[in-house]
This record gives sequence, structure tokens and C-alpha cells, in this order.
Amino acid sequence: MNSYTVHKLTDSHAHLYFDKLRDQLDLVLENAVANGLGIIINVGVDVETSKEAVRQTIDFRLRGNDKESGNNSLKIYSTIGIHPHEGVNYPTKESEIQNDLEALKDLYLNNQSLVVGIGECGLDFFFEHNAGFVESGLIVEEKKKSQMRLFEAQIVLVNELQLPLIVHCRDAWTEMLPYLNQFNGVLHCYSGNTKITKQVLETNLYISFAGNITYPKNDWLRESLKMIPLERVLIETDSPFLAPQSKRGQPNEPANIREVAERVAQVKGISVEEVARQTTQNVIKVFNLNA
Ligand SMILES: [Zn+2]
Repeated sequence: MNSYTVHKLTDSHAHLYFDKLRDQLDLVLENAVANGLGIIINVGVDVETSKEAVRQTIDFRLRGNDKESGNNSLKIYSTIGIHPHEGVNYPTKESEIQNDLEALKDLYLNNQSLVVGIGECGLDFFFEHNAGFVESGLIVEEKKKSQMRLFEAQIVLVNELQLPLIVHCRDAWTEMLPYLNQFNGVLHCYSGNTKITKQVLETNLYISFAGNITYPKNDWLRESLKMIPLERVLIETDSPFLAPQSKRGQPNEPANIREVAERVAQVKGISVEEVARQTTQNVIKVFNLNA
């Protein structure tokens, strides 16, 4: 057994270094504690933000020890990786990917008690949404290839380091599915329909639900959730993005995980306590926390 109070909520995926959260981090973390959070996983999206996520985690721990704040009951960990949106920055040169992955590897090796996974990485073929890809002049096949190279390199790294992978997949399930047996980890901000979910359930991966599970239009996603045993479910905010229904349009923060937990509980017909307990246990297991 571990030292966590297991009924506390866990936000398995947040980006605490983006402007709106970083600038008022003390308040954001106080809110998180006040709303019953026990663990936050702070997820990097490129080399710089991965370093920043680790720095924030170190800083939080130092301050927590210094001043006996109420934040002592909160644990923060980091993951480090390169988001598919960055694929456009590695259009052809394999060596540039390798240089950056070496930097991530060093970051992990120097901070092994804080860094608990690689990611987020993956495939995001919703190219119109991303200025870098729109302006790149690459044809669609090249855009896809650039992301797949970057993703494949991180799969190699995660297996070398024996860590879990945090996977982002948007509009790319056909290409993503064949990769899913090559690593352990989490499908973050899950967006698979019931047909895809059937295939995902054949793997060992955990499946993380974000604020979009609370959106009225997303019955199709709630149908997928119904199919997935709670032992495989994680919850996340993806802060500062994707605020849940009652806060839509506002910057998201980890405290809002409660609304995600409530909706998951409702869909599953169980208590919020049970969702908190099991999803926290799942995070401890997949990220090997306190091991
Ligand atoms: Zn994210």
C-alpha cells in the first residue's frame, strides 16, 4: 500500500507552466488542495516546457518543505515529451529529433524521483487548428509523417527508460491503433468512439477522460466510458485548456477535476468517492508513484 489518502482526487494531466496558471500558481494550487486534489501530473509539450514542468515541481517541493503550507498534502510530478504539434519543427532531420530526445533523457536521468513518464506525444491530424502546420507548406502526407517520426522516436525512448507514455490522439485513430501495443501508458483526453474503444480495450493502456466528458453534445464519448472498466480509467483537466461545462470559455485549472469526476461517477452509476479512489490508484499504478 502507499502513503496517499486514496479518496483524494488526482488530475492526471495538466500544464501548470502556461501563462494563466503559472502567473498565479500559488492560488491555483491552493484551489486544488481546497477541492480535494492529492496528486497533479504536470505534463511537458516540448523540451523547454518539459524543463519548466520539472523546475516547477522541484520549486513546489522545496517551498512545501520550507513553510509547512497546506499544500503539503498535494504531490506534483512531471512528465516530459514533445507534442505532435511540434512535428512541423522536425520536418526531415532525424538528428534533430535525437538531439532533443537526448535532452529529455538527461532531464529524466537527473530528476528520476520527479519525472514519471514520457509525453505528451502522439498524433494530431487536425491540422487546420495549428498555425505551424498551416504555414508550413507541407502536404498532408508530409505533415503526418513528421508527427509519426517524432512519435516513434519517443516510443523507443519510453521503452528504453521503462516509463509509461502519455499519448495524445486527435483525428488520427486509424494511424494510432497499430502503435498501441508497443508501450505502456495512458491515452490522454480520450476521444475514441465505441468502435475504437473496443480495440483500445484489447491493449494494456489506461484511458483518461477530460472536461469534454461533461459537454452536453458528447453522449457518444459517455457511451465509450460506459464500456471501460473503472480499473482502466483516469481523469484529467488538461489545464489550462478544455474547461468543463460549468466553466466553459474560462481558463481551466486542476480544481475543476471535481466536475469531471462527478460526471464520470454519474455515467458509471457510482459515487464520486469511488471514482476518486480508483482513478487515484490507477495513476499510482501506471506512473509507479512512490515505488
Ligand atoms: Zn495536454
